[in-house]
Amino acid sequence: MAVSFGLTEDQIELQKWVHQFAEDVIRPAAHEWDEREETPWEILQEAAKVGLYSIDFFAAQSFEESGLGLPIALEELFWGDAGIGLAIVGTALAAAGVSSNGTPEQVGEWVPQMFGTEAEPKVAAFCSSEPDAGSDVGAMRTRAVYDEKTDEWVLNGTKTWATNGGIADIHVVTAVVDPELKARGHASFIVPPGTKGLSQGQKFLKHGIRASHTAEVVLEDCRIPGSCLLGGKEKLDQRLARAREGVKGGRTQPSMATFERTRPAVGAQAVGVARAAYEYALEYAKQREQFGRAIIENQAIAFMLADMKTSIDAARLLVWRAAWMAQNGQQFTAAEGSMSKLVAGETAVRVTEQAMQILGGNGYTRDYPVERMARDAKIYTIFEGTSEIQRLVIARTISGVHIR
Ligand SMILES: Cc1cc2nc3c(=O)[nH]c(=O)nc-3n(C[C@H](O)[C@H](O)[C@H](O)COP(=O)(O)OP(=O)(O)OC[C@H]3O[C@@H](n4cnc5c(N)ncnc54)[C@H](O)[C@@H]3O)c2cc1C
Repeated sequence: MAVSFGLTEDQIELQKWVHQFAEDVIRPAAHEWDEREETPWEILQEAAKVGLYSIDFFAAQSFEESGLGLPIALEELFWGDAGIGLAIVGTALAAAGVSSNGTPEQVGEWVPQMFGTEAEPKVAAFCSSEPDAGSDVGAMRTRAVYDEKTDEWVLNGTKTWATNGGIADIHVVTAVVDPELKARGHASFIVPPGTKGLSQGQKFLKHGIRASHTAEVVLEDCRIPGSCLLGGKEKLDQRLARAREGVKGGRTQPSMATFERTRPAVGAQAVGVARAAYEYALEYAKQREQFGRAIIENQAIAFMLADMKTSIDAARLLVWRAAWMAQNGQQFTAAEGSMSKLVAGETAVRVTEQAMQILGGNGYTRDYPVERMARDAKIYTIFEGTSEIQRLVIARTISGVHIR
């Protein structure tokens, strides 16, 4: 069969398994951890016990041949709660940074450590953004200087908005190794547990996803072994030499391709949040009576729900298409990965807002979960590339014009 929109038995089993965990463990804890605004270590431990918070789980889903394993799992997890979902998934984002840039030895050494053990789970952080370098990664200032005498790299700078920043055992840090090459002169490093010179700066108090820790990470003469340069020195030197040769016309194609592959996973999270709010609003609209009838009997409400469901399904299809393309080596000729994240993120914002509207006054209170879901949804138009940046990438890809 050339095309099928049906899930395999394995995929359905995965969906049910993650959904069960989300329903039994995550949902009941969501309000508490949103209010506490801190990492839910107990839930991470529960997830580790059942094998959901583990390298094996994320590796298996990331390599699932259709590409749909990860989006299916993430949608269910974030259906449970986005803050706790991100507390669980944040480490996998850092692990993906190591897997895509590291040597097999580095992946084998560091990625298992990132998750810790069942008894004592750990988290990892991916630190790229800086106070003056958010969307504009090329403006990065954190410096990595090689000390030949000791075979060490010395990192100095301030990273911001890092998920798990400062509480992580392992930090994956991007830094400038050759300022003249701008974005092509960057490299990624592992900062091992307990390294002197790395400290947590401000912890941010956020609008949503409050069970996920977000903080500044300060690097002051932070010395790490030469072996912590992801990909190794030889590969870096070759890459820098190539970039110097083609510096004028050079663009950062490899990293753009990586983003196209990772963005559907973020889109799947947004789909999960949107679906959670939609399902809650649908049930509420059937129960709540005004003017002697259920509010869903009014077209104004029923049509809103019809639009919500339609846009969620449309977003999911874009996510699945991009995830399938990534796994099957298809070329992203129209930035389909960015498309999926853009549509899913904006769908989550719109649908959660509509859910609040359907709940009326109740929707505006913290006694009902859609208020939290609406706060959580907003992050999906901001992190992992804002909606504007997604549009920029799509526009440049379809036009071939360097649109600003
Ligand atoms: C909760 C949270 C968790 C995060 N986790 C991480 C993490 O783990 N690791 C990490 O490295 N980063 C992380 N980030 C950072 C995140 O990726 C950035 O916030 C995001 O890339 C936007 O950067 P900025 O905040 O500096 O906004 P800016 O880049 O300053 O953008 C501000 C506004 O200007 C717009 N804009 C900027 N440039 C253009 C342009 N060329 N054309 C049109 N519009 C433009 C943007 O779309 C946006 O609307 C996180 C952020 C948050 C809030």
